Amino acid sequence: MRKKARGNAGVEAFIADEMLAKLARFMRMAGVRVLHIRGMDDERILRLAKSKGMPLLTCDEQLWKRCEKRGIKSLLLSDQPVFHQLLRVFRSFQLPPPRFSCSTLCPQCGGRLIKAHKSTLSARVYPRVLKKRRLFWECAGCGKLYWSGTHYERVRRLFWRVRKKMEAKISPQG
Ligand SMILES: [Zn+2]
Repeated sequence: MRKKARGNAGVEAFIADEMLAKLARFMRMAGVRVLHIRGMDDERILRLAKSKGMPLLTCDEQLWKRCEKRGIKSLLLSDQPVFHQLLRVFRSFQLPPPRFSCSTLCPQCGGRLIKAHKSTLSARVYPRVLKKRRLFWECAGCGKLYWSGTHYERVRRLFWRVRKKMEAKISPQG
């Protein structure tokens, strides 16, 4: 099912610390580029964020304070459900409300997702999945396949809830 990962050649827009794997996946599904850091010491993270001009999303208060001191854009998040984290990030950085669209990125590697035709997938997907599911996508970065299903619906609903909340904030009716 998988090709060897080639990584994503694009420019990341955010850096997410080690604890924010889930948030990183959801942001990518909303089309936002995120570099998820693993096993990197704080000093290197800070230098990376500074040199690339990428805001840092972190749950680490000490790291966040060091960002503030050095003038690196950052957002301190708590260990909340991903809905609340998404809402905070999208509001704080005034991102367009999240939705599944043609800009949705691979949650694993951040590569572009390309629609795949059922007819080309018979060797890679179980027949019952091919029969049952309507939409398929392939990641241009890591080659992973995705299809519409219950997970996809859950993410769509979550994005819808975030959009609703974001819109409620700016609507005069409150
Ligand atoms: Zn991928």
